[in-house]
Amino acid sequence: MSSKKFLSEVWLQDSSYPGRRSPNSMDHLSLEKTVTGYAARDSSGFLSPFTYALRQTRPEDVLIRVLYCGICHTDIHQAKNHLGMSKYPMVPGHEVTGEVVEVGSDVTRFRIGDTVGAGVIIGCCRECGPCKSNIEQYCNKRIWSYNDVYTDGRPTQGGFSSLMIVDQKFVVKIPTGLAAEQAAPLLCAGLTVYSPLKHFGLMKEGLRGGIVGLGGVGHMGVKMAKAMGHHVTVISSSDKKRAEAIDHLGADVYLVSSDEASMSSAAESLDYIIDTVPVFHPLEPYLQLLKVDGQIIMMGVINQPLQFITPMIMLGRKSISGSFIGSMSEVEEMLEFCEKKGLSSTIEIVKLDQINEALQRLERNDVRYRFVVDVAGSELDA
Ligand SMILES: [Zn+2]
Ligand SMILES: [Zn+2]
Repeated sequence: MSSKKFLSEVWLQDSSYPGRRSPNSMDHLSLEKTVTGYAARDSSGFLSPFTYALRQTRPEDVLIRVLYCGICHTDIHQAKNHLGMSKYPMVPGHEVTGEVVEVGSDVTRFRIGDTVGAGVIIGCCRECGPCKSNIEQYCNKRIWSYNDVYTDGRPTQGGFSSLMIVDQKFVVKIPTGLAAEQAAPLLCAGLTVYSPLKHFGLMKEGLRGGIVGLGGVGHMGVKMAKAMGHHVTVISSSDKKRAEAIDHLGADVYLVSSDEASMSSAAESLDYIIDTVPVFHPLEPYLQLLKVDGQIIMMGVINQPLQFITPMIMLGRKSISGSFIGSMSEVEEMLEFCEKKGLSSTIEIVKLDQINEALQRLERNDVRYRFVVDVAGSELDA
């Protein structure tokens, strides 16, 4: 790859303005790049080094050198084929922060050296209702950042790799006040809680919110809701995380879901509940906590039908809704919100060669919220 270095230098000299057209830019970007990532080869979900070619690049593409990538619960589902849709080899990872190393000739929003992020979605049709309303996460033709096929027919591969190519529409600038490793989990876990709070008009001060489950998404839920000025109740299946929730995350109340007395004393006390638990659980105990017009927002992937009796929602005009990550405009807003409020995720940094151990620990919930892989510090060949 000696020509790559040469061309990078040419491009650097020519890149004093973002989006400026370079006569070499297309040739440069159309060179195929080989990268190494950590891939699952089968449903054991065990990740090991895997070398592959990145897709052909286009004028609107941004080449990102991955710095950090958070480990999301979805990575386990995908790597282990829990949803029955996994294709191998698969490089997971969709909470990516990195440095822009090249930009295509039509890229106007980014320049070389910018710290940027990429998340769960890296493509959409741009023509359907959701796309035209800038809620492209609900596009039926969305392209996932890994375990999917790009428009050129190649498999998409995620952020546990040295480089990624992402269309500028799906790249976000990381504000200077946020560290790249802190920002990584915001791109999925943070956005996932921010988006529904914004969409459902719940960013008002003084609301009373509940967070069910205190994992990667749940801990961001507590922090976001507190930063919005809410009174926050954490509801968990055991007493294990009480001190953590109250002392570290700043929650106001901690309820153990099996403690019927405290659950009924909290009846009809909450304006909303964010339910992050990704395994089957009955909804009734949570529905009873909601005030009139309260709503429970589901965001854990559960592939088993849930049940509830209708009076639980009728007698109180309550609603059950779902929400899925957030839009690119919301991710920008959310990062600014986090910067302004000094809000970050609570992380444990690991290297790529520790990723299997980290995945196992995440699976048994043995993590203080979010693992972030120091990809750039992991000595992969670029
Ligand atoms: Zn995720
Ligand atoms: Zn669309």
